[in-house]
Amino acid sequence: MRELHSFGWYAKQLKGHLPKKAFRPDPGKLLGGAAYLLITTAAMLGIVFLSLPLPVNLLLSLIIGMSFAAMGFLGHEILHGTVVRSPFWRNTLGGLFFWPLCTGPRLWRKWHNMSHHVHTQHEEKDPDTWLTDTAVRKNAMLRLIYRLPISVRAFFEFATQTVMFTLHSLRMFKTYASEFKSNAAPALWLQLLLPWITWISLLLIAGVTNWIFMYLIPLLIANGVVMAYISTNHRLNPQVEINDPLANSLTVTVPKWVDVIHFHFSHHTEHHLFPAVNSTYYPLVKQKIKEYWPHLYHEMPMSKALIALWKTPRPYFNGKNLIDPSRGEVYGTLGNGLTESGESASTRAQ
Ligand SMILES: [Zn+2]
Ligand SMILES: [Zn+2]
Repeated sequence: MRELHSFGWYAKQLKGHLPKKAFRPDPGKLLGGAAYLLITTAAMLGIVFLSLPLPVNLLLSLIIGMSFAAMGFLGHEILHGTVVRSPFWRNTLGGLFFWPLCTGPRLWRKWHNMSHHVHTQHEEKDPDTWLTDTAVRKNAMLRLIYRLPISVRAFFEFATQTVMFTLHSLRMFKTYASEFKSNAAPALWLQLLLPWITWISLLLIAGVTNWIFMYLIPLLIANGVVMAYISTNHRLNPQVEINDPLANSLTVTVPKWVDVIHFHFSHHTEHHLFPAVNSTYYPLVKQKIKEYWPHLYHEMPMSKALIALWKTPRPYFNGKNLIDPSRGEVYGTLGNGLTESGESASTRAQ
């Protein structure tokens, strides 16, 4: 693998090219958040009070689900401190916009800001990186799962994306809860339980059928949308010892209007270089990265990245490869044989 550099090494060289306001909080983004809250509330009230036909209810579920996902992207940005500066408002608003996905702001900052961003794609320290071949071999259940043909596994991996963010969030709570000081425990638990209490109360108030359209279907849609980004952000890249965003992250491309409604979440390499920069400036960061290091930068259309994800196996093998344990076939990762058109020739493991 090529010589790696930390994200600070890249950021230092590009910092001077960004305007000062890129580093200031941008509370204007809350207008977008308010619009999502209004749309969601109106759609929920419509489902409860208007006795609409099934296709209209499904359309409203889709709108709510897309709004939940977008609110999650806004919550992510708020909790990086790029929207409001005050810790109280950062946590309150971050928690509010993560409410549909039931992830508390304290847990998120520990899991995402302090662990995933600091140790991206580190085999042991990144809570979001995928398993290694060694971990699969040590676990009987995983060995069994990975004996299934790759297409069957890909199907289940894609199907479970509709619940994966919620499940991973609960797993992260279990992982990190013990690392908080005892005086932080009540807030941590409240931030976990209050969103769930809200959504379960809604079930009791609105009834099962309405609740399915108001929350359950939207939650599955929101999980699917956020996981489409999260699963392509790093899983086609190698695992690395040095947190080099140009090696360990992928920027996906989506239509411009999607970037606007998703707060440029597609620009993930740029985000890992400058997590504290207002995301509106990520296209400028991208332009500069492409000027400085065009040969190191990875970018793929979202559709191609998802197809590549489907076609390549998941466990990592020697950090820079992916292996299909059932057939012993080894595939490359980005920068190590996997091309940006999503093709990777497979070889037999030695
Ligand atoms: Zn990431
Ligand atoms: Zn982040």
